[in-house]
Amino acid sequence: MSYDKDNIFAKILRGEIPCDKVYEDDQILAFNDIGPQAPVHVLVIPKGAYVSQDDFNANASDAEIAGLWRAVSKIAGELGVAEPGYRTIQNTGSDGGQEVPHFHVHICGGRKLGRMIAP
Ligand code: 5GP
Repeated sequence: MSYDKDNIFAKILRGEIPCDKVYEDDQILAFNDIGPQAPVHVLVIPKGAYVSQDDFNANASDAEIAGLWRAVSKIAGELGVAEPGYRTIQNTGSDGGQEVPHFHVHICGGRKLGRMIAP
């Protein structure tokens, strides 16, 4: 699947659509999900054009991959969910429930989330 430069997160990265930003560095943008599923629900996205987790893992540089995951933990700490805990979700493709074709990590927390996601 080729990258759709008109996907909603690409528009957020270009500043064409606003977002409620919680973190930004040279490689990463993080913002509150527009339809939160938990008291804390943040989306962490790379600034590079990657369709999915698999595209990111295959084609991003080691620095981009390390930077994203270090940012996830940093953001979780800043949001106050590192303790007592939180969940990251990376939906991939159709069966995975991915709606936006720009790789993103969900950080969800702020309440007990249960063992897994409901169907
Ligand atoms: P996915 O199902 O692709 O893993 O998750 C996409 C997420 O993006 C959903 O949780 C949805 O609420 C969120 N989302 C979709 N459009 C927007 C938007 O315009 N702004 C923000 N902040 N979140 C969005």
